[in-house]
Amino acid sequence: MDPRLRDDVESLIADRTGKPSRIREGRRSGGGCINDAQRILLEDGREFFLKSNPHPLPHMFPREAEALEKMAEVGAIRVPKPVGAGGESPGGTPFIVMEYIPTGSPKAGFHESFGRQFAEFHLKSKADRFGFEHDNYLGSTPQPNAWEEDWVEFWRKHRLGFQLELARTNRYSDPTMDRLGESLMNRLPEIIGEPNEAPCLLHGDLWGGNYLADSDGEPVLIDPAAYYGRREADLAMTMLFGGFNSDFYSAYEEVWPLEEGSKDRLEIYKLYHLMNHLNLFGGSYYSGCLSILNRYCG
Ligand code: ADP
Repeated sequence: MDPRLRDDVESLIADRTGKPSRIREGRRSGGGCINDAQRILLEDGREFFLKSNPHPLPHMFPREAEALEKMAEVGAIRVPKPVGAGGESPGGTPFIVMEYIPTGSPKAGFHESFGRQFAEFHLKSKADRFGFEHDNYLGSTPQPNAWEEDWVEFWRKHRLGFQLELARTNRYSDPTMDRLGESLMNRLPEIIGEPNEAPCLLHGDLWGGNYLADSDGEPVLIDPAAYYGRREADLAMTMLFGGFNSDFYSAYEEVWPLEEGSKDRLEIYKLYHLMNHLNLFGGSYYSGCLSILNRYCG
C-alpha cells in the first residue's frame, strides 16, 4: 500500500474510533466497478473495508460515507457502518473506510427477510422534502439532489430532465428521443403525480450487485446513491436487471403495500436508470429508453 495512503488511513481510524493501530496487511478484493477495494487488518486485530481511488469523482467518498451513515441510522437493514473518508488534501489518495462485512450464503428465506427489511427501511425513514443534503453520484454520473417540495418537479428537474439533457450533451440522443423526452416532461404530472405519503430514504441504485449476504446470511446494502424520494423509484431499480425474486416483493408489500397505480409508474423510474446506462455505457441502451418513451408518449 502506498505509504501516504497507509498513514492517512491509520490516522483517520485513530481519530474516528479513538483507538490507534497500524495496518498489518491489506488484502485486495475483486468485484468493484470503480475503485480499488481491500480488506485491511490492523495490528490490534480489527478489520475494515477500504476503498481508494487516486482520481475519484469530486468528493465521491465523503458523499458515500454520509449516505451510509444516514442509512445506518434508520436501523432497519444492515449497511456497513462508515468510519469516514479522507485523503483529499494535496498529494493524498482519496479513500473511504467502513465496517468490513464478512460474507456468507444467503440464509433460507433470504429474499423474504430482505423484502421485509427493505420495506421497514423505507417506512422508518420519513422526510418532509425530496432530495438530499448534498449532490452525489449514480455510478459515476453526478446525481443532483437539490431539495424540492414537489415530487414531479424533483423528477423533472433532477432526475429525468437531467439525464435527457446529459444524453443531448453526450450525443446519445437524437431528435426522436428529444421530442418524446420533452413530451414526457410535460406529461409527468398526470403520469407520476404526487405521492400520498411522505418522502423516505432511498438506496437509489439497488441492483443485484449492490447487496451482500453477511455471515448470518442476512442482507446488507452497499454502494448507495441515496436521497429522499418516492419508494417506487427504489423498487423499479430492483426490477431492471434481476437479482430479486417474488418473495422479496410479497414480503415488501406485506409490511408496506405500494400506493395504488404504482405498477403504471414503475417504467418511468426504470427509465431514469436506463438513461443513466445510456449516458455511461452508450448506444446499446438507446432502444430500451426509446421503448419506454414510446409507451407513454409515442
Ligand atoms: P465500487 O465503488 O468500486 O463499485 P463496491 O462498493 O461495489 O465498489 O464494492 C466492491 C465489492 O467489494 C462489492 O461487490 C462487494 O463484494 C465488496 N464489498 C463492498 N463493501 C464491502 C464491505 N463493507 N465489506 C466487505 N465487502 C464489501
